[in-house]
Amino acid sequence: MILRRELLTAEMIEPGTGAPVRTMVEVRHDPLTGHSSRILPERGLMPASDFDLEAFARENQPSCPFCPERIDRLTPRLPGWLHPDGQIVCGEAVLFPNLHAYSSHSAVSVYSPRLHYLPLGAMTPRLLADNLAAQAAYARAVMAARPESVWASVNANHMLPSGSSLFHPHLQGIVDSQPTTFQRLLAEVPAQRFADYLDAERRDGQRYLGDTGRIQWLASFAPVAPAELRAFAPGVASPAELTGDLIAELAHGLALALGGYAEMGFESFNGAIYGAPPGTEGYPLNLRLACRSNLKPFYRSDSTFLERLHWEGAVDLAPENVARQIGERFRR
Ligand SMILES: [Zn+2]
Repeated sequence: MILRRELLTAEMIEPGTGAPVRTMVEVRHDPLTGHSSRILPERGLMPASDFDLEAFARENQPSCPFCPERIDRLTPRLPGWLHPDGQIVCGEAVLFPNLHAYSSHSAVSVYSPRLHYLPLGAMTPRLLADNLAAQAAYARAVMAARPESVWASVNANHMLPSGSSLFHPHLQGIVDSQPTTFQRLLAEVPAQRFADYLDAERRDGQRYLGDTGRIQWLASFAPVAPAELRAFAPGVASPAELTGDLIAELAHGLALALGGYAEMGFESFNGAIYGAPPGTEGYPLNLRLACRSNLKPFYRSDSTFLERLHWEGAVDLAPENVARQIGERFRR
């Protein structure tokens, strides 16, 4: 497999000196989905965090619905046909329906009600494994009760810049009869192409991070977001098929990756584990992780894991209404 890339050159006259300046931009093509991506010269676009996250956590904690004193009162319960307990508890992780649904089956799972403040450097394999286990149990429960809902994903908006509306760290699961755009694109990739890509990256070595046993990790060749990492788990196609050892292995890799982000000075990220229908032959369960800009007061990004990692817009303004409001200007 050849990893396709082209170099583009930008030319300009420098202000002040009048000297000609050339800048190189590399266009890369993702070998799985074919999307292209631009690699720019280092410009300091992603400065390290200089924000007092802990102080901000103390400030917003008193009204947090995911903290121990409020979680049972302020979070919704799962319907009885889905789970008799109304919520799914694994270790410290607690899963419940998303008050603001993004799909037929939309769940939020906090790593722990007691961990309102959880910087990326403090993410442990245990916390991640329990949370993933809760999401896997949720996906299995939905699929058992609603067999048409075969598309599951486990996602993260971590800290406000990533699209999270609540500070308290959590994961989000979606299970539906419809794939997101990226789930569909990835499910259409022939099995051999996944194998060829991983072989090519392993041989090249420049982006290959290593394997944690069954799961292989690498830095994305054509990233859709900053500092993007990918991981591939052969033999399982859906988060619903994740159990015991594989959950522990995945959690271990995620803790390594997130610790790496913390070292680089990042505290906000998006993540997506893209499931295909359970049993899909040759499809490796795979994920993307990517850094987002660091938190600044009063900032909320417009771009969530849906837009950034699934190519799937999530808007609350119907295009028809927008057209009605804006279209008038064009007809004047
Ligand atoms: Zn909280």
